[in-house]
Amino acid sequence: MGIASINPTTGEKLQVFAALTDEAIAAKIALAQQTFADYRQTSFEQRSQWLQAAAEALEQRQDHLGRLMTLEMGKPLKSAIAEVKKCAWVCRFYAENAATFLADESAETDASQSYVRYLPLGIVLAVMPWNFPFWQVFRFAAPALMAGNVGLLKHASNVPQCALAIEEIFQQAGFPAGAFQTLLIGADQVEAIVKDARVKAATLTGSEAAGASLASIAGAEIKKTVLELGGSDPFIVLPSADIDTAVETAVTARMLNNGQSCIAAKRFIVHTAIADEFTAQLIEKFRALKTGDPLADDTDLGPLATPAILHDIDQQVQACVQAGAKALVGGDIAALQAQLPDSLKKGNFYPATLLSQIPPHTPAAEEEFFGPVALLFCVDNLDAAIELANSTPLGLGASAWTQDEAERDRLINELEAGAVFINGLVKSDPRLPFGGIKRSGYGRELGHHGIQEFVNIKTVWVK
Ligand code: NDP
Repeated sequence: MGIASINPTTGEKLQVFAALTDEAIAAKIALAQQTFADYRQTSFEQRSQWLQAAAEALEQRQDHLGRLMTLEMGKPLKSAIAEVKKCAWVCRFYAENAATFLADESAETDASQSYVRYLPLGIVLAVMPWNFPFWQVFRFAAPALMAGNVGLLKHASNVPQCALAIEEIFQQAGFPAGAFQTLLIGADQVEAIVKDARVKAATLTGSEAAGASLASIAGAEIKKTVLELGGSDPFIVLPSADIDTAVETAVTARMLNNGQSCIAAKRFIVHTAIADEFTAQLIEKFRALKTGDPLADDTDLGPLATPAILHDIDQQVQACVQAGAKALVGGDIAALQAQLPDSLKKGNFYPATLLSQIPPHTPAAEEEFFGPVALLFCVDNLDAAIELANSTPLGLGASAWTQDEAERDRLINELEAGAVFINGLVKSDPRLPFGGIKRSGYGRELGHHGIQEFVNIKTVWVK
């Protein structure tokens, strides 16, 4: 397929791009390195002004940028516009707080002065996915640029127009030309860039396979990486929970971004005492979701980003059903297709689906479901809920619903995840660190932890 914008709603090819040649990549790395020499000397104040200008540019163009996202990867337009606004927020957050997060930290020692100073590393490569084509990039770029690093972006091959628009935002905001550059390249061109001595570190958000590949190349070069990979987040509902709010949140948590979010709730682990009530409400709400053109205001579920994702999720659902699972809602592409207007029949649409009675250890049920499919499990007690929640190799986020303090403390301490949200939706927030454990990755983005990932934590000792 190469690097191309293909509208997932209609199958129409919008624009095709040639991958950069080795010479063009070399020129961009050289420009990044040359820019870094001066850029690292700029003040926090100057960087902050540029980042504030980027926030303004995002807000001024939010409708246009939102539409670009929707046309390239299919998320409902209202979510796409909200994503642009969130990018403006993360820019402002780091513009306002980076100087504090990276201020010298003194320590009492035998020296007359000893302290820690945070200094930039240089060129950082960001390999990013298509699911939040703006947010994933800005949550890397805002802290990296404030720390004095320069960025190279290898975006997913299906969102090249978003990738170019992001570069343009930083240029318009006043950042020097080499501070943030988009490289339109295929995944096979990443290795040589990671191996380039001028590139000091890399971050990747995406699949385990891509993360493992990048990290092993970087590891051989002794270069720092941050990995934000998949999740199979549990959503645990216990008897004391506010069921109505839990159900409402469950729908958002599973269906946001057409179900293609690493921190989407994917496994719904519900206590048997309230399982019937929870399930009945969930079925009703899944049935009420409107699938259709993501540019339309009343659409809840748009198409999946690519035909491959549609194929994969259908295979996973079929594998679960063949193993004995029951589809309480959805699971049937043909039935959905029959209801769609002709203009959408070539789109990558998958119905909102709820699977229950999944036999234990069904292989597919242990994978990440990157689409609008919820897996429902019933348990008799908290121990079983925690055990099931932790039974996957992934450990990104977890949402748990209870009014009981003792239960809450156990969930916070025992769930194997990078984030636990009690009585709420797992979401990223510039003020809090974000990242996973186990095979969901390592390192943190956002918060003060995020900006400290790609810096030299330099110890200074003066006699
Ligand atoms: P990928 O991991 O393949 O793509 C993410 C990014 O990594 C893209 O820029 C991609 O480039 C690049 N990439 C892929 N392989 C390599 C490699 N070997 N070396 C360096 N870079 C690489 O995700 P997919 O889009 O294929 O989605 C597959 C699955 O990944 C999903 O079903 C989901 O489980 C998971 N995923 C998780 C995300 C998250 O937010 N955690 C986001 C997206 C996917 P290119 O597009 O050119 O291949």
